[in-house]
Amino acid sequence: MRLLLIEDDDRIAGPLTEGLGRYGFTVHHVRTGAAGLAGTDGSPDLVLLDLGLPDMDGLDVCRSLRARSAVPIIMITARSEEADRIVGLELGADDYLAKPFGVRELVARIRAVTRRTTGALPFPVPTHTATPEAPRAQLLGTLEINRRTRQVHLKGSETPLTPREFDLLAYLAEDPGTVCSRQQIMDTVWDPHFFGPTKTLDAHVAALRRKLGDPAWITTARGVGFRLTVPGGEAEPEGAG
Ligand code: CA
Repeated sequence: MRLLLIEDDDRIAGPLTEGLGRYGFTVHHVRTGAAGLAGTDGSPDLVLLDLGLPDMDGLDVCRSLRARSAVPIIMITARSEEADRIVGLELGADDYLAKPFGVRELVARIRAVTRRTTGALPFPVPTHTATPEAPRAQLLGTLEINRRTRQVHLKGSETPLTPREFDLLAYLAEDPGTVCSRQQIMDTVWDPHFFGPTKTLDAHVAALRRKLGDPAWITTARGVGFRLTVPGGEAEPEGAG
C-alpha cells in the first residue's frame, strides 16, 4: 500500500516513514503542499496530510486533493488546530490524528479508514511475506483465520462469524499474546470516532468465546483490554512444545 506523506517537519516525517515501512507501507514523502498536489499523479492509496505547511494552507491542499480524487485523506494536526480538523473533515478528509501520536495508532487509523472507504483490509499483517494472491490464512493452534476470504475454521470446520466478530478476532490475532486495550480495539474494529460506553465490545467478546467453544481463547486483562491466546499452548504455530 502506497502512502503519500505531506509533512514539512523532517523530525516527524523521518521516524514516521521508517515506522510505517516496518508495517509494510511504501511512503512517498514531500515537504510542501505544492509537491503533494503534484505527487498525487502517482495515485497513492492514502494521503497523510500535515495541516501546517510552509507554502500553502493544508486545508487548501485537502480541498484540492478531494476535488480531483477520492483518495482517503488522514490529516495530521497540532492540538491547537481543532477548528481546522472540523473544517478538514467537512472538506472531505476521512480522519485526523493529533500530534503527538505513535506509529501504531496511525496504522490503526489507516486500517480503519481503508476499511471504511474500500470495505477491505488494506495490507498484509506485518512480517507476512505472502504475495497478494496467496490466501493469507493464519494458523493459531486449531484456529485458522483467512483474512482474504474472511473465513474462520476451528478444527477444520468453518465457524460462522458476524463481520464485526471477524474483525475483532482478526485484530486480536494480529499479535497473539499481546494485550490490546479497549480503546485500541474500539478505534480499529469499531470507529476512530467512537465515544461512549463500550459494552458492545464485551458482548462481542462473549459471542466470540462462545463460538470458539473455549473462553480461554480470549483472556481479559482486567482494566486494560483483551488478548488472544491459544488455549493450553503458545501462540507460535511452530512452537516445539
Ligand atoms: Ca508542519
